[in-house]
Amino acid sequence: MRRNLVVGNWKMHGNIKSNQLLLESLTDGLRDLKNSDYVVCVPNPYLFQARSLLEATNIAWGGQNVNQFEEGAFTGAVSPHMLTDLGCTYVLLGHSERRVLFHETNLSAAARFDAAIKADLTPILCVGETLAEHDAGLTEVIVASQMDAVMATLGDEDFARAMHLNMVFAYEPVWAVGTGKTATPEQAQEIHQFIRQRIARRNAGAASKVRIIYGGSVKASNAKELFAMPDVDGGLVGGASLNAKEFEAICRVANSLSSNPCLTEEDHIVS
Ligand code: PEP
Repeated sequence: MRRNLVVGNWKMHGNIKSNQLLLESLTDGLRDLKNSDYVVCVPNPYLFQARSLLEATNIAWGGQNVNQFEEGAFTGAVSPHMLTDLGCTYVLLGHSERRVLFHETNLSAAARFDAAIKADLTPILCVGETLAEHDAGLTEVIVASQMDAVMATLGDEDFARAMHLNMVFAYEPVWAVGTGKTATPEQAQEIHQFIRQRIARRNAGAASKVRIIYGGSVKASNAKELFAMPDVDGGLVGGASLNAKEFEAICRVANSLSSNPCLTEEDHIVS
């Protein structure tokens, strides 16, 4: 059985004071939750603060994006090792806001994915269709193309490395991100199952182990029905992650539905 995962995506929100209140409240609220994994992806300037407030807790922290290059003349960019230097263990990649607002492509997501795993960061690859694509019945085509662009660049060794790092897929229908609209549990399940089957074409053992989380207006009030679906392994939470009580409630749902106490060495083995 897979262990649930809840990831908060703060996007471009927060300040030193509000972050401190939020993180202290989360640290307190999530302390007793042992059955799932919890992550906050904070804006880069606050990673240092996240590290100092979270390092002795059961909450991990990560970046919201990363550059594919190690270092150089890339003004405004952040390298994988800068994230790991600040204790990050996760990084979001290919978020729809990056794709739509910053014109990131499948190709750049693949390059970032490769750079992330080489730096020992667990990649969370976001995939999902726009409303127009959804209405045109293109969801599976779009999700497959976003996945394949990354999977095709991974040789067997990199694929095994990504599995060792517990790579994560996040299905985020773009029409549900930040809109208050949520996919129904059945819609989410259908695409999560599709994602798992697509991974199985590459490696059946990996497919049953990889975590696929749902994102798109997840709240405490809808988390249970979503996370209860067999192929939904938790959530990627935007707006609701900025409210400590709401995020804690979502984490509690994930925790209550997940009985897997920890990942074992065996879980990492891709057969
Ligand atoms: C997100 O930012 O990935 C997200 C899912 O946002 P929201 O929960 O606000 O829809």
